[in-house]
Amino acid sequence: MSRGLTGIVLKGYGARDYTLTLLSKREIAPHFVRFRFASAQLFQEITWHPATWLRFWFPDPAGKRRELQRAYTLVAAYPEQGEFEIDVLLHEPPGPATLWFSQAQPGDTIASTFLGSRFRMPQPEPAGFLLIGDACSTPAINNLIVAAQPQTALEVYLESSSPHDAAIPIEAHPQLRLHRIARSSAGSLVAALESRDRSGWYAWGAGEAGTMKLLHKALKDTHGFAKEAIHVQSYWAENHKS
Ligand SMILES: Cc1cc2nc3c(=O)[nH]c(=O)nc-3n(C[C@H](O)[C@H](O)[C@H](O)COP(=O)(O)OP(=O)(O)OC[C@H]3O[C@@H](n4cnc5c(N)ncnc54)[C@H](O)[C@@H]3O)c2cc1C
Repeated sequence: MSRGLTGIVLKGYGARDYTLTLLSKREIAPHFVRFRFASAQLFQEITWHPATWLRFWFPDPAGKRRELQRAYTLVAAYPEQGEFEIDVLLHEPPGPATLWFSQAQPGDTIASTFLGSRFRMPQPEPAGFLLIGDACSTPAINNLIVAAQPQTALEVYLESSSPHDAAIPIEAHPQLRLHRIARSSAGSLVAALESRDRSGWYAWGAGEAGTMKLLHKALKDTHGFAKEAIHVQSYWAENHKS
């Protein structure tokens, strides 16, 4: 089964493959499902950090002899048991990942590769975290909320494309200020960011590729973040075709 150029590059970097077995699935919002997986080797070789992610290889829905890569965040890890959980947004139109997760049953297996998950919580703790994302980055944002110290200021901007998004649980934090922004264009989330003094803060963002490009520029040019205090990553692309 071919993994294309991506597969060749990952092998070149010595990335390790892991077979994952699905243990259980449960709906946590109408379009958002938690999947628990087991892997005998994964936690013998990697250490979990907030927002750690893994590359999954999905069968081609068109039936071609190839596997397609999509990434998911380990929202919870249980290293002693060799188990972890991911929260999956089931979106429309579905791609290979959404199709696989919609049909998956306990006992099913899927291949995965670990390489490229490099984010670490900034040390020392910043004065505040500005966390920006959408439904599919909620698992990582929830990890960051839990990891932040109780005295650290926390501002979260969540872009929403579906009325169901408000049902996705957000972790609690004593300093949390949550803003929900309806997506009307690639720039609507960035336009909604309030301008104020965020000296000593750290900005973390993940979401749609066009929006993340605008966000990175706005954080530097408009909101005064130094590049060392920014982590922005594209998690998906509007109208993406495999
Ligand atoms: C590091 C990283 C971590 C991630 N963690 C998670 C996670 O924990 N949970 C999670 O659900 N997703 C996560 N994602 C996002 C997920 O990998 C993408 O949404 C992926 O494209 C879904 O693949 P697909 O095969 O279902 O759809 P694709 O084949 O990629 O796309 C099919 C169609 O669906 C649209 N689409 C794709 N993704 C989305 C989306 N998120 N929202 C709305 N429309 C979309 C596309 O524009 C296209 O029209 C993560 C991505 C990265 C890079």
